[in-house]
Amino acid sequence: MNKELRPIQVGDISISTDANVHIAGPCTVESFEQTFSIASNIIPTGINLFRGGAVKPRSDPDSFRGLGGEGLEILFNMGRIFNIPVVTEVLTIEQIDLIKKKSAGHPFIFQIGMRNARNGDLLEEVGKTGIPVLLKRGDSSTVKAMLSMAKYITNGGSPVIMCERGVATFSSESGTGRATADLLSIPQFQDAGFITIFDPSHAGGEPDNVMRLALAGIAVGANGLIVEVGVVDENGKCHAQCDAKQALSFDQFGDLLQKAKEVEQVVR
Ligand code: PEP
Ligand code: MN
Repeated sequence: MNKELRPIQVGDISISTDANVHIAGPCTVESFEQTFSIASNIIPTGINLFRGGAVKPRSDPDSFRGLGGEGLEILFNMGRIFNIPVVTEVLTIEQIDLIKKKSAGHPFIFQIGMRNARNGDLLEEVGKTGIPVLLKRGDSSTVKAMLSMAKYITNGGSPVIMCERGVATFSSESGTGRATADLLSIPQFQDAGFITIFDPSHAGGEPDNVMRLALAGIAVGANGLIVEVGVVDENGKCHAQCDAKQALSFDQFGDLLQKAKEVEQVVR
């Protein structure tokens, strides 16, 4: 079932079809304490890359939009403290240089989010850096459209990792999730030559559904997961300023990772 695809190197990590890649961290870097707490609890469980947004695309412009440069400093500090490559979103062409500068050579992957999946100019500039790009599916982009958009990046030389994260459908507003995971896009992206991972967080919308979807994504052959994790209080509530409802607790994430590895063994 597993098709061999060209490996992508990020620092010491080789993202390949040999073993699934596990990416986790906060949706958004909100403070050193929050990020350190998450990093120190989940990195030892065996993740390969640490995620965290510093510039956030929000539906409401008055909501928290990330710490910007300060958030990038916190994120890259975590990368150095725990010796792990990081994944962070870039929203604008101007931010490409800012992120590179803040990385100070620490290995990382640019994330292109759902909202920028059609932004050819941004994709083209990111592609010229040679740095790997995690390209998330646009929520109203077909698989074919995504394959065209990926060319904007690969034409410049950066390798692309595809990410299914759900598309807008009639069921998206039903309360079960924010988007509907189109799981069969995963083998389609792989057949087109892309290592493809799955983000169950933005389609799941809440922990139980995030975990259900994550295992389904691995079952259809995803090459890994990118999952949002948060600090929760004694009542199990996460108070993050962005995507709190879908954040897994440390325990939930540990449990998920274990199960994901078991499902991986079955489908491999
Ligand atoms: C995210 O990863 O936090 C995010 C905003 O994702 P998406 O672009 O898929 O909504
Ligand atoms: Mn998020």
